[in-house]
Amino acid sequence: MSKSVQKLRGLTGMKDILPGESAQWEQLEQTVRTWLASYGYRNMRTPVLEFTQLFARGIGEVTDIVEKEMYSFTDSLNGDKLTMRPEFTAGLVRASIEHNMLYDRPHRIYSIGPVFRHERPQRGRYRQFHQIDVEALGFAGPDVDAELIIMLARLWRILGLNDVRLEINSLGQSDERAAHRDALIAYLEQHKDVLDEEAQRRMYTNPLRVLDTKNPSMQDMANNAPKLFDYLGPESLAHYEAVCARLDDAGIAYTLNPRMVRGLDYYNLTVFEWVTDRLGAQGTVCGGGRYDGLIEVLGGKPAPAVGFAIGMERLLDLISQDQDQLAVPECQVYVIHQGDSAQRQAMRLAEQLRDQGLTTIVHAGSSGFKSQFKRADASGAVAAVILGESELEQQHASVKWLRADDTQQPQESIAFDQLATYLHAKV
Ligand code: ATP
Ligand code: MG
Repeated sequence: MSKSVQKLRGLTGMKDILPGESAQWEQLEQTVRTWLASYGYRNMRTPVLEFTQLFARGIGEVTDIVEKEMYSFTDSLNGDKLTMRPEFTAGLVRASIEHNMLYDRPHRIYSIGPVFRHERPQRGRYRQFHQIDVEALGFAGPDVDAELIIMLARLWRILGLNDVRLEINSLGQSDERAAHRDALIAYLEQHKDVLDEEAQRRMYTNPLRVLDTKNPSMQDMANNAPKLFDYLGPESLAHYEAVCARLDDAGIAYTLNPRMVRGLDYYNLTVFEWVTDRLGAQGTVCGGGRYDGLIEVLGGKPAPAVGFAIGMERLLDLISQDQDQLAVPECQVYVIHQGDSAQRQAMRLAEQLRDQGLTTIVHAGSSGFKSQFKRADASGAVAAVILGESELEQQHASVKWLRADDTQQPQESIAFDQLATYLHAKV
C-alpha cells in the first residue's frame, strides 16, 4: 500500500538559485571582490543570527525594518531573543567593536551574503535577498564619502550599466535635525487630513520618515514640507560641498534629493542612492550614507563611519536585461564506459585528467552508449572519452569531439598513458 507524500515547498519570498542561474551570481561576486580589493576593501564575515537588541539599537526602533520586517524568535533552549540579520552594518560594527578593531586605525571592509526582511514579496523585493555591503569604519570624510560613490560609479562602468542615476542629500547633524523636526511636526499637524495611518502614527516619533512615503496622495504634502537641507549649518554644508566637489572632479553627475532620508535611523550628513527606471517600482539598486553616531550607540569608542549596501537581486535583474544568460558547461570532458573494468579504468583516467586541470565527469551508473552520448552532449563537454571492450584490450581510449566545429573530425585513438597530456593540449 503506497500513500502519496505531500511535496514540501520553500518559503514565500525566498528564492532558490538553481545551477543554471548561479554562474551569473558567481561571476558578479568575483567581479565585485576584485573591484573592492582594488580600493583596499577587505572581506569580513559575521553570523546571520544576532541578538535582537543589536538591530533595535543599531537600526532604530521606529523604522520599517525594526517595526515590522525582522525575522525574530526566542531561542527555545535558553530564551534568548534572536534576529536573522535584516542588514549588515549593525553586525559588522558590533564585531569590529568586540574585536577591538577600531582602536588604532580605520578599516575598509565588506561582506556579501543573505539578509532577511519580512516584506510583501514582489519583483525586486524578497524575504531573503542578498547584499554587497561596504563599510569604511573610522573615517570622518568627506573624502571617503566621495571615494565610496566614485567606487560605485566604477562598478557600474565595469558592469556596463549607464543608466543608474545618483541622488544625494545631507541629513546634517542631530541639532540641525532637531530644529527641522520642530518645523516639520508643526507642518504635519497643519496637514493632518492628508496623512495616512502610518504617517499619523510616525509624525511625532519619526517625522522625517513621513516624507519618505510612497503614498501618491501624500506626495504634494511631502514636496512642500520644510526641507532638512535648509536647516544645515555651515559645517554640514561644507561637508556636502566637499563631497560634491570630488564628484565633479570625477565627472559624476548627481541630483540633490532633499527628501531622501534612508531607512535606518542612524544616518547623518551624506546619504545617497543609485536609482534606475528599468526595474519598475523597486528602482533603488544601492543605498548608503554616513553614520557617525552608530559605533558609540553600540558601545564602542566614538568613531565616524560611512557605508553602502547594494541589492544583488536588483543588480542582477539589471545586468541580465543586457546580457544573455551565461551558459556555463558542467565539464570539459565526459567519460563514457561499458562494463565494470571499463568503469574502473574511467575513474582512474578521470583523476589523471583532473590532475591536468580538466573538469571531468565520469558517467555514473551503467547505461547504453547512446544515452551516455546524450548526457555527454547535454553536459556541454567538448570531448567525450569512450572506453569499451576493444579500448580496454588495446589500452587506448577513443576520443570524440562533440562541439559543432569538430563534428567532421574522426574519432581518435589515444594510448591511456598519453590521454591526459593529449587532452590537456587540445581542450
Ligand atoms: P526600499 O526602499 O526599496 O525598501 P531600503 O531602503 O529598505 O529599500 P536598504 O536597507 O538601503 O533598502 O538596502 C539596500 C539595498 O538592498 C536596496 O537599495 C535594495 O537594492 C536592496 N533591497 C532592500 N530591500 C530588499 C528586498 N526586500 N528584496 C530585495 N532587495 C532589497
Ligand atoms: Mg525597505
